[in-house]
Amino acid sequence: MALDFTKYIASVRDYPEEGIVFRDISPLMADGQAYKEAIGQLVDYAKDKDVDMVVGPEARGFIVGCPIAYELGIGFAPARKEGKLPRETVKATYDLEYGQSALYLHKDAIKPGQKVIVTDDLLATGGTIGATIKLVEELGGIVVGTAFIIELKDLHGRDKIEGYDIFSLMEY
Ligand code: 5GP
Repeated sequence: MALDFTKYIASVRDYPEEGIVFRDISPLMADGQAYKEAIGQLVDYAKDKDVDMVVGPEARGFIVGCPIAYELGIGFAPARKEGKLPRETVKATYDLEYGQSALYLHKDAIKPGQKVIVTDDLLATGGTIGATIKLVEELGGIVVGTAFIIELKDLHGRDKIEGYDIFSLMEY
């Protein structure tokens, strides 16, 4: 029988600030069977897309993207915050509730024409994944899909990445 993944998500009220319900994926990762099953479903999604590379933003995008890449025998490129990548980079900024943030990829992380799946643990407003997609495309990559463990429907992240294929294991 298929696992009910919602059992493995801890909902934390008023974190990181009052009024927010944070969806914590740590219990899912802590359970070997649930983690394996969750990643397995994301791998099946990626397999159908004939992907060359996986790209995920720090830090929880690594938790999701690295095992997918490993399982498929393809590469993983980390999208990182300011000052973390040692070589030449491309940069994409995105809006936060207050102010802006930026993500970077190494310039040689993606080769033009490579098919890429972009991953993160959770899709909220879509700012993080939108910036990651921009980076991939600036390097000439083709984003063939996006994969998440959780999608927060009310925050309409889907609208920000309209036109891209979106796969998530559960919705809140
Ligand atoms: P967005 O940029 O779509 O608004 O927010 C998604 C990013 O913020 C992801 O990188 C995700 O890790 C983090 N994030 C925002 N809210 C939550 C949450 O409730 N749970 C988890 N696990 N991550 C969150």
